[in-house]
Amino acid sequence: MSKSKIPRQRPENLDPEYRTTNFEEVEKNFTEEQAILEAKRCLNCKKPKCIEGCPVRINIPGFITAIAEANITEAGKIIRESSLLPAVCGRVCPQERQCEATCILGIKGEPVAIGALERYAGDLTDIEPVEIRPTGHKVAIVGSGPASITAAADLARSGHKVTIFEALHALGGVLRYGIPEFRLPRYTLNRELETLKTIGVEFKTNVIIGKTYTLQDLFDEGYDAIFIGVGAGLPWFMGIPGENLNGVYSANEFLTRVNLMRAHRPDYPTPIRIGKKAIIIGGGNTAMDAARVSKRIGFKEVTIAYRRSEAEMPARKAEVIHAKEEGINFLFLHSPIELHGKDDYVTGVTLQVMELGEPDASGRRRPVPVEGQTKYIDVDTFIVAIGTSPNPVLTSSAKKENLPLEVNRKGYLEINSETCETTMSGVFAGGDIAPLAESNVINAMGAGKKAAKAINNYLKTKV
Ligand code: FAD
Ligand code: SF4
Repeated sequence: MSKSKIPRQRPENLDPEYRTTNFEEVEKNFTEEQAILEAKRCLNCKKPKCIEGCPVRINIPGFITAIAEANITEAGKIIRESSLLPAVCGRVCPQERQCEATCILGIKGEPVAIGALERYAGDLTDIEPVEIRPTGHKVAIVGSGPASITAAADLARSGHKVTIFEALHALGGVLRYGIPEFRLPRYTLNRELETLKTIGVEFKTNVIIGKTYTLQDLFDEGYDAIFIGVGAGLPWFMGIPGENLNGVYSANEFLTRVNLMRAHRPDYPTPIRIGKKAIIIGGGNTAMDAARVSKRIGFKEVTIAYRRSEAEMPARKAEVIHAKEEGINFLFLHSPIELHGKDDYVTGVTLQVMELGEPDASGRRRPVPVEGQTKYIDVDTFIVAIGTSPNPVLTSSAKKENLPLEVNRKGYLEINSETCETTMSGVFAGGDIAPLAESNVINAMGAGKKAAKAINNYLKTKV
């Protein structure tokens, strides 16, 4: 069959009715036959556009050719030259807006399934051992999300003694407490974290930098450089009447309590009240995750309300499709304006009907209220997933210590976009705490990589 005639291969998905009863991974891996067929669709373009669409510039045609030749070891090796977490990124990157958006096959038909092929290679291969020559330098990494994991891996492989300090009791950042297991199984994440241990990275959990230790303490302890990858985990609320009622959650709290503390299980000590009708506000991955988790833990009716239309939703396309298959209702062009309650518990919400006006600074059409049109819905749980901002613990502590660590007016760290160096010498930062592009996993990893390179250069100046 000629390349152009091979249809895009689709990995098997769990049956929607079955999957809403558990946290099993929804999307399965390609079979070998599917992976080879899919890889054979690639045209091996002379000037491949897909590489430009990937923030860490994976040699996409290179690894796809290796899969087409059934050389999976080589495929894994090629990907890991640029990205340490292929099994994670293959599952969670918004490929339709990145590498797959620029694949030439997408002009007339469907692009190569680059993400699914990356996951295939990531799942079936391991990192190759490298010889590590100790430099005698010590680097502290604050936070253990994808930016930190990537920086830690590159720095440890360069021979520095790396220690990760994590505020929570478990490692992985949003990959563990935000993204649910049915999208990113914990064995996949644990496997990637184990790799760090094998190259000598040390972990200290339950340590909050800014409280347990300050940045200055880390330098006093003999660390020669610091990377800050603390994310932006402080949730926004709507600021509407009734938001202090019981049954109102931020999506971050809701997901953390289920993913990390098993709050949906009565045998765990931090239960959440499982009601009948939940409404989730927002249109991103966080909203999709909160909705799909609600369904799985027993809510009967789950609705996502988004103030724009489906076309503007920032969530990954696959998650929207999966949410619909699982029976989640979507209420587009609606935005809550008031919550109603009884005996301190939320019982309903009034939503303003919106329409799309002129594009705003993000290029998306701005939602504007339709005068006099509202809708009331009965709900017993209201989950806000409209965004987050940086948690000020670390930056406020630096301010108290008079350290020259500058933040912008929204609380994000100021960094040099080429080196990720902050305004404080020897301190670097990246990921959601200092975003240079859309806040997502692969961009956080890209920043971690960039920072590791700059830290290596910085340490060369410190003999
Ligand atoms: P984070 O992953 O936020 O990790 C920061 C870590 O630092 C945390 O573990 C935190 O506990 C720790 N920390 C914070 N303060 C301190 C301190 N003072 N001391 C010590 N440790 C500290 N992106 C995608 O690409 N695809 C998706 O499908 C996707 N889905 C998402 C779903 C949800 C629910 C959420 C919330 C986000 C999602 N994202 C997704 C976004 C993505 O997860 C983030 O952009 C990414 O994780 C940011 O990485 P990071 O390394 O900057 O920080
Ligand atoms: Fe293959 Fe598409 Fe990349 Fe061309 S753009 S090399 S067809 S994946």
